[in-house]
Amino acid sequence: MNRRKKIVAGNWKMNLNSQQVLKLMQALNRSEQEFDCDVIVFPPFVYLVDVIDFANGGGRISVGAQNCAATENGAYTGEVSPAQLADIGVEYVLIGHSERRIYYNENHSFIADKLKCSLANNLRPVFCCGEPQIVREAGEQLTYVKQQLVESLFTLKTEEIGQVIVAYEPVWAIGTGLNASAEQAQEMHTFIRHQIAEHYSLAIANEIQILYGGSCKPGNAAELFACHDVDGGLIGGASLIAEDFLNIISLAH
Ligand code: PEP
Repeated sequence: MNRRKKIVAGNWKMNLNSQQVLKLMQALNRSEQEFDCDVIVFPPFVYLVDVIDFANGGGRISVGAQNCAATENGAYTGEVSPAQLADIGVEYVLIGHSERRIYYNENHSFIADKLKCSLANNLRPVFCCGEPQIVREAGEQLTYVKQQLVESLFTLKTEEIGQVIVAYEPVWAIGTGLNASAEQAQEMHTFIRHQIAEHYSLAIANEIQILYGGSCKPGNAAELFACHDVDGGLIGGASLIAEDFLNIISLAH
């Protein structure tokens, strides 16, 4: 056992309408289930204020944004700054999700800027990394993820890195129903922790929570969460269904 508290985080992506958000939050708030882990939800921007209100009512769910700007403020039409998110009560932000890297061409240095800007505005980043299928097939996943770490995450100072949560999300597992095996997840999570230890310190590496994401479901969460270096999950599809999300939460302790 390690001392790290587990986290179960739900990435709702561009799903749900206001009625569905209400139903989901009511189900999460009303459940009598004890939470032994930290629970975070990442709703679409337009529902953040409502979800923060619901979450405050229940008192046991934190709220994050799925994205943020890389700059403090100014003429960036359509962007939302970390300061604005923090201002309405958002505590976390997803940075470097593969969907943003792939569909919006977010590169390492842009992701590094977002990390710095969110930390400077008291938002805790969940830094997502992970290899595409072609890289896994070539057996190059460790080198690939190392580059993501070095070029974005490791640009942070020692005093900043402790605020970050890492999420290992193999791209081939996201939304495909094909999760990484416990062995594959553990191998990568240990690798990431070693890299953090080498770059910063063993003490820092041992504190940082590293989540697994990619088709994590009630049926596979227990095995994944039992891995020594897996500190919980970032859940996409299954976080939209209250029963499944609560089930996964019950497996994180
Ligand atoms: C995600 O996109 O962060 C994710 C883990 O999605 P899914 O659980 O649907 O694979």
